Amino acid sequence: MSAKKTETSKAIEAAPSEEKKAAPKKPAARKTAAAAEKKPAVRKPRKTAAPAEEPVVEAAAHVPAEEPVAEAPAPVEEKPAVEEAAPAVPAAEEELPQPRRSVAFIGSECYPFVKTGGLGDVMYALPKALVKQNCDVKVILPRYACIPLKYQEKMVYRGSFTMDLCSDGRAFFVGIMEYVWDGVVYDFIDNEEFFRAGNPYINLIDDIPRFCFFAKAALAALNFMNWIPDIIHCHDWQAALVPLYLRTLFANTPIGGAKTILTIHNLRFQGLYSLPTIKYWTGLPHYLFTHEVLKQGYDDANMFKGGIAYCDLVTTVSNTYAREIQTVFYGENLDAHLRYHSAKLRGIVNGIDVEQWDSATDKLLPAPYDASDVVEKKKLNKRALQEQLGLEVDEGKMVLGLISRLTDQKGLDLVNAVLPQLVDGNTQVVVLGTGDAIYEDAFRKFENTYKGSVVAYIAYDEALAHRIYAASDALLVPSMFEPCGLTQLIAMRYGTVPIVRETGGLKDTVEPYNQYTNEGNGFTFDRYEAGLLLDAINRAKTLYFTERERWDEMVVRDMAKDVSWDNAAKQYRALYLELKP
Ligand code: ADP
Repeated sequence: MSAKKTETSKAIEAAPSEEKKAAPKKPAARKTAAAAEKKPAVRKPRKTAAPAEEPVVEAAAHVPAEEPVAEAPAPVEEKPAVEEAAPAVPAAEEELPQPRRSVAFIGSECYPFVKTGGLGDVMYALPKALVKQNCDVKVILPRYACIPLKYQEKMVYRGSFTMDLCSDGRAFFVGIMEYVWDGVVYDFIDNEEFFRAGNPYINLIDDIPRFCFFAKAALAALNFMNWIPDIIHCHDWQAALVPLYLRTLFANTPIGGAKTILTIHNLRFQGLYSLPTIKYWTGLPHYLFTHEVLKQGYDDANMFKGGIAYCDLVTTVSNTYAREIQTVFYGENLDAHLRYHSAKLRGIVNGIDVEQWDSATDKLLPAPYDASDVVEKKKLNKRALQEQLGLEVDEGKMVLGLISRLTDQKGLDLVNAVLPQLVDGNTQVVVLGTGDAIYEDAFRKFENTYKGSVVAYIAYDEALAHRIYAASDALLVPSMFEPCGLTQLIAMRYGTVPIVRETGGLKDTVEPYNQYTNEGNGFTFDRYEAGLLLDAINRAKTLYFTERERWDEMVVRDMAKDVSWDNAAKQYRALYLELKP
């Protein structure tokens, strides 16, 4: 989840200090703020967004900052004519688990509209899996300008209203554009001023106001559409204010009875910023800005922290990560807060979309394959990749893939430390990723030094990712921490053996190879040490080069492993029922 990760503590330190300090009287200087100075700052819909004749419904009244409750838009009786978005139910009613539950997903990215990492995958695949579990799912997303035109064109205008935000009640336009696909309804919150950037994440100074707006607008939109779900399922810090708004400003509105789940996909990114700025932009009541809820340190507020305090359940994406984040090392300064709320903290391991990631039907592969012909077809895919990327073409080489955001989370220091020892004439390394310049440059340098054996493809390239998963023999995922990790799941599905560090979801999903019983799915190491990574890779190489039959058996075993969403969807459904029996 890459650029969203603009939001590290480093980024916070790097933010110009005057921006942080300027907040209470003159909130964070940004174009939006500046543009919004003249009240009311109602933004018009984009040209494609709405038929000109549609009325803009005044749905949110100005409420003074001190007012603690009930400022939400009232439900609107008369709605603009739209194609009614009735989710398709995939199976006969009697086959589906009962009772039916309705869920609103709120998050900042979703494949294929906008994806920078694993969150985008989850927001796409989990709702689809929940539909099969008899859930009625709406996904609420920002309508970023960067969403490809082919999707923008298919969106249907669902309505618009103005909503007040900020402690001085500044008014903003909220448009709702709808797209129905595969049984899931996607509602995009439109506001050109906030979401016109080419990237979903910019920097904290911009992102804090836009996700304050987004959280409140998402709830207001649900009221506006009069679609009141049983559960509101919020994802990561960008949606973490939703439970706070729900229990305060929206408590006495139709949506007020919904239960909330907040899923932590990555605790490193928290929406931590100057308290006066967040107080101003959210317009949330004063009593929420205490150390038990939003306040952190001397003069900061933390959106994730507040969401954790106010939601009904917190989930994270693996059991191990659920335990880890309650420790100082993994807790990102919220370990004590999470220990305090541990009774409502659960871990559910992610899956992957097994239709999107299916090596037998994958049109992006030169030679699609299944478990019956994986060994032969992998060689064809390998040759094609070697040709495409300028590697020495030789199917006998062992290819190690690495597909990742290039940040310190991903264990790249370990990879850099051992890479010269990997290139032994029999091994090739293919890196696909973008991120921190320090890693991009390091990998470029390796490519230059070991021409023909190492490739550093510094880009975000979905199609190439598919080809690398298919062509590689093993995939490196030596993360320092990994809430769940999807690349090891995709790798296994594509018959590519994962080599992982035993942390978070990597530990929960990759069973270490046992040479005595010939069981397991991959190679693992525990402590964050380069020597241990090298050892794990060498164990993999030994098996690959000396006991190929056993290696191939592991490949087939990996492909047979259930990495679908079915299991997770059932567990989420059980949580929804726990909250709304
Ligand atoms: P994170 O969410 O921390 O980035 P995950 O393993 O959960 O890591 O998810 C990463 C997702 O992003 C996977 O679907 C992976 O294939 C994809 N991905 C990561 N980097 C790239 C890239 N450079 N090009 C294409 N896909 C990428």
